[in-house]
Amino acid sequence: SGARVRRARNKKLPQYLERGIDVKFSDVAGLGKIREELEEIVKFFTHGEMYRRRGVKIPGGILLCGPPGVGKTLLAKAVAGEAGVNFFSISASQFVEIYVGVGASRVRALYQEARENAPSVVFIDELDAVGRERGLIKGSGGQERDATLNQLLVCLDGFEGKGEVITIASTNRPDILDPALVRPGRFDRKIYIPKPGLIGRIEILKVHARKKPMAPDVDYMAVASMTDGMVGAELANIVEVAAINMMRDTRIEITTDDLIQAAQIEERGMLDRKERSPEMWKQVAINEAAMAVVAVNFPDLRNIEFLTIAPRAGRELGYVRMKMDHVKFKEGMLSRQSLLDHITVQLAPRAADELWYGEYQLSTIWAETADNARSAARTFVLGGLSDKHHGLSDFWVADRINDIDSEALRILHMCYDRAKEILHQNRNLMDAVVDRLVAKKSLTKEGFFKLVELHGSIQPMAPSV
Ligand code: ADP
Repeated sequence: SGARVRRARNKKLPQYLERGIDVKFSDVAGLGKIREELEEIVKFFTHGEMYRRRGVKIPGGILLCGPPGVGKTLLAKAVAGEAGVNFFSISASQFVEIYVGVGASRVRALYQEARENAPSVVFIDELDAVGRERGLIKGSGGQERDATLNQLLVCLDGFEGKGEVITIASTNRPDILDPALVRPGRFDRKIYIPKPGLIGRIEILKVHARKKPMAPDVDYMAVASMTDGMVGAELANIVEVAAINMMRDTRIEITTDDLIQAAQIEERGMLDRKERSPEMWKQVAINEAAMAVVAVNFPDLRNIEFLTIAPRAGRELGYVRMKMDHVKFKEGMLSRQSLLDHITVQLAPRAADELWYGEYQLSTIWAETADNARSAARTFVLGGLSDKHHGLSDFWVADRINDIDSEALRILHMCYDRAKEILHQNRNLMDAVVDRLVAKKSLTKEGFFKLVELHGSIQPMAPSV
């Protein structure tokens, strides 16, 4: 029948197999002595008979321990790549399912596939997700996990010492693993992979630079020195971001500067991820909320789609997405009033900072939007939109530059006061949006407008200039 055919076919298509693994030890940099230990694992595959004849026990499982991003997965793949064996992988969090029995049956299926396609490496990522000491987790989730763990122990024992299927698992927490997992014959080999040191970082950068058009005089030492504490994944990212930098400038070589800039972005992202204090989260939330709360007062700018304070690549703070804002703005389609509104929105973070933290504790969190406001104000005056300056001619008159600046300043002040007034009137809305952002890190369009409805005091004002 059709079902049987399908089943037979499914059996031939292993779902945990990763095809085309082409990783070699030379792709993993900064290993030092660890490399020898891994080369030995490769030998268990290639010279298994020799080990067995001499009575050397081949371990069933190897535990790679170390923080995320140091290359544990890459190493496991390199072992399979060097040995020329199949690579089966699963993340242990995939084992931990709500439905009873699913985790255990996945473990069985994984090992069955690995055996049918031996020799093979089975890689289990985040072993601690399932291998945590039994009995520590209460409730039915705990029981399910125990069943999965028991099944894993059975499978490990099935291959002990045979050398045809070797399990490599990664964990950042070897200390919390169930003692049964690390008993002899199971994960009895632990290899610690630390964060790379200075030389390691240089080597890792170079490995990732191999396939990129690097300038011949790139100073890897400079980049390695400024990336203390970073792991391979972050260093790989730096090279990628540097390449994007180069492309954006339509250059053909990646320079030291590209790498340094990328490293700064990565570093900032790291700080954002790890070291934002509750006070910082709040400050960023106030910054973002202020723009949205002011913008919602203006017909051309109120199309707010999304607010977030979650840090993202290349951005220090969060951001507010307003639908038409820059499209129209870039195309010069904003009306005179909309341009003023735009300036007001860009000044809102600065105004909020003053209102919430006081004039003497101002931060620089609003520097970027204040810059936007400044240049928009100049555009406004230079474009002849201000009453005091009709026509472009003024732009070309050198001795008018001071006039233009002072007129731009007047407009900035006016817009700033307007932003402050709107924020002042909408303190309740601000508080509500800030609270939500701090708690959830983002706010949808619907969520935001719900709060506007509940707490907002919208009064379109259009003062004359
Ligand atoms: P882990 O499994 O330890 O969390 P990964 O192996 O998934 O880390 O690393 C992610 C990526 O980071 C790799 O695919 C590789 O591009 C890069 N990387 C990490 N460590 C190294 C290293 N030692 N040498 C070269 N690249 C590395």
